Amino acid sequence: MSNSEKEIINVKTGRSHYEIIIGRNIIDNAFEEVLHDYKDYTIVIITDSNVQRIYENNIIQKLNNKEGVYILSFKAGEESKNRKTKEFLEDRLFELGLGRDTLIIALGGGVTGDLAGFIAATYMRGVPFIQIPTTLLSQVDSSIGGKVGIDHPTGKNLLGAFYPPNKVYIDIDFLKTLPNEEIINGIAEIIKAAIIQDSELFRYLESNIDRVINLEKGYIEKAIISSLKVKAKVVESDEKESGLRKILNFGHTIGHSIEVLSNFELSHGRAVGIGMAVETIIAQKIGILKNEEKERIFRILNKSKLLDKPFKGSADEIIKKTSLDKKSRKGIAEYSLIKGIGFAVYGIKVEEEIVRDSLVEMGFL
Ligand code: ADP
Ligand code: ZN
Repeated sequence: MSNSEKEIINVKTGRSHYEIIIGRNIIDNAFEEVLHDYKDYTIVIITDSNVQRIYENNIIQKLNNKEGVYILSFKAGEESKNRKTKEFLEDRLFELGLGRDTLIIALGGGVTGDLAGFIAATYMRGVPFIQIPTTLLSQVDSSIGGKVGIDHPTGKNLLGAFYPPNKVYIDIDFLKTLPNEEIINGIAEIIKAAIIQDSELFRYLESNIDRVINLEKGYIEKAIISSLKVKAKVVESDEKESGLRKILNFGHTIGHSIEVLSNFELSHGRAVGIGMAVETIIAQKIGILKNEEKERIFRILNKSKLLDKPFKGSADEIIKKTSLDKKSRKGIAEYSLIKGIGFAVYGIKVEEEIVRDSLVEMGFL
């Protein structure tokens, strides 16, 4: 992909069809296109305080001066992904007197996308919605697939909807201002995509993970586009997670427990990194994954520094949390595992003893 080139991925499901446009420095063009496509609409860009500050002088100011374009922002961070912020933003929309001819654009990371998407899903029973994800995690994962929502004190993402975007614009240049820790956070989902569905991407990462992490030209593009293709394909075949979509949960049963038990001190990516390690051991222990493939997975997780910040929890508390996971059926945790690199399987019930042994092997005593 050369400098001005764009890649387009189509996502077609039973209920929606949208394009994901990927490239570098495409943001100005994207806004021009949106202003043209939605010329009869009022455009509301929802962003967080960090993104607003960083992009104030170029992107945001240019748009703010346009008629019929509003920028609304909220305090950056997961703590804002709640009913209060939703209410605050909705009140602004009503104060502006906006009706159904409103386009909502999410400009930011996963928090912005989930929150703005949920507002778009419910404002006036639904208005058009565009995602412009600015973190690696949101570019490869949360901005597509149509899951939107907010947190409740009981747990994360418990209030929400399936509301696919009308379009997704991924400008890789946004990643230049992203802190390294946020890159690591997104790398986990790229590795996951490779492990569950794309052995060619996995081999590519084995040779080039450092270049991808350093956002080198060509390498980061390849990693993002390939992971998006995996996610698009899975979402297309199962939008609402009754079957195949569950393979996207590889690493997440254990990962989610660890993330919660760490009180979210551990990022989603790091928790999923550890989760993938444990679930890889489980797959090997139940005899579906060869030892040499397990070793390849561990090498890549280590190389990308995902296992560098160990979480000190006990195997028992992690297991207890997995059976409370909202994805589990009747209290029994089901796992999405792999029987080889690129071959995921889902709905696997694993004996607690095996889970415990695997956690112990990872140092959780
Ligand atoms: P996620 O990791 O799910 O995308 P957030 O939306 O909270 O979660 O984004 C993570 C952090 O990165 C937030 O503090 C956000 O303000 C910040 N952020 C988002 N995009 C950028 C960017 N392009 N450059 C710098 N910081 C960013
Ligand atoms: Zn995830």
